[in-house]
Amino acid sequence: MRRSDALVVGGGLVGVAIAWGLARAGLSVTLLDEGDRAFRAARGNFGLIWVQGKGAGLPAYAALTRRSADRAPELAAMLRDGVGIDVGLRQPGGLHLCLTEAELERQTTTLRRMHNQPGGGNDWEVMAADAVRRLIPGVGDIAGATWGPHDGHLDPLRLLHGLHRQAAADGVVIVTGVTVETVAPVPGGGFELTAGERRFGTDRLVLACGLGIPPLAAQVGLAIPLSPQRGQILVTARMPPVLDHPTTYLRQTPDGTLLLGDSKEQAGFDDGTTAAIGQDIARRAVAALPALRTARVVRTWGALRVMAPDGFPVYAQSATAPGAFVVACHSGVTLSAAHAFEVAPAIAAGDLSAYADFSPDRFSECATDV
Ligand SMILES: Cc1cc2nc3c(=O)[nH]c(=O)nc-3n(C[C@H](O)[C@H](O)[C@H](O)COP(=O)(O)OP(=O)(O)OC[C@H]3O[C@@H](n4cnc5c(N)ncnc54)[C@H](O)[C@@H]3O)c2cc1C
Repeated sequence: MRRSDALVVGGGLVGVAIAWGLARAGLSVTLLDEGDRAFRAARGNFGLIWVQGKGAGLPAYAALTRRSADRAPELAAMLRDGVGIDVGLRQPGGLHLCLTEAELERQTTTLRRMHNQPGGGNDWEVMAADAVRRLIPGVGDIAGATWGPHDGHLDPLRLLHGLHRQAAADGVVIVTGVTVETVAPVPGGGFELTAGERRFGTDRLVLACGLGIPPLAAQVGLAIPLSPQRGQILVTARMPPVLDHPTTYLRQTPDGTLLLGDSKEQAGFDDGTTAAIGQDIARRAVAALPALRTARVVRTWGALRVMAPDGFPVYAQSATAPGAFVVACHSGVTLSAAHAFEVAPAIAAGDLSAYADFSPDRFSECATDV
């Protein structure tokens, strides 16, 4: 039986950032990942580091997101210097392009409400169509946009690869192709995990396996209601530079391809694609950036977001099995730096009290209220 100070289940962006952070805190760490059979948001996302609009109703989330975005350059530099992987981070500020006045009004109301909530929100401003045109000369006939100065984007696959390489370089033992089936507290302390014939032992257990969390968390006394939300993404062939700033549903990568996306569907555990949603995504993208009318779509995919009922992250330690933790969120790109640099050290210290706002107790309180 392999034994380590900490076992992290899940090798997506969340799990690997936590595993690396635990290793940096001095623990011996093993990371277990199911591999290609699993749903993997980390391999199908849009690559935004997004701050504006995050945390409406939960100021602690607005603050966490901002701290993470602020430390993204430090994370990118560590991966570049440590394992030679450039994640292509750019944070020039981002836009939510609104095609209609009604959409602009809705977006503005949400951001204003956030700004007024106790604890506040993050910096943002409304931008008139003319001002947007100065940033994006080819923009279509839009009503305006909201602008967030801390927003950016990167290559999420390079981020995932870089984190895996850096974690391994810093001592994390990565075991792939294992599906953890049971996690059991051991009398006297610690946990034992089984995956087929294999067994793993640990003092500290972190469940960070996205949509695979709920059945495992239940075995250590944590009820974590997560569900899939499908997003579809279209990728175009390379084009000359047309978009210097990332937006919520359009971004151009340094090699010239454009990613079009941001659909949100309840499709269960189906991560396929549909022509109808693809058409909606394309129509909206062409309206926002007419140069896309002649773009050739070369690839399309669907992937499943890991969603809590209120859309906020879940950070928790089990009350009945102390030493067992859950880390789940739907913005694992944006929160990578926070996970590695602050959530992992808190887990290493065995104290998540600074993250009480993210406890799953908030769901049982909702249930009681109902
Ligand atoms: C369409 C889409 C667009 C997105 N865009 C953005 C964005 O622009 N910006 C942003 O910040 N975030 C974005 N996200 C979210 C982001 O991709 C995820 O938050 C991030 O990938 C982290 O996911 P994760 O590690 O929790 O889960 P996953 O990536 O799903 O990884 C879970 C891992 O756990 C493993 N696993 C599952 N069950 C088990 C088990 N029983 N035993 C062992 N291993 C197991 C799987 O193999 C998998 O590797 C997007 C997501 C989607 C779907």
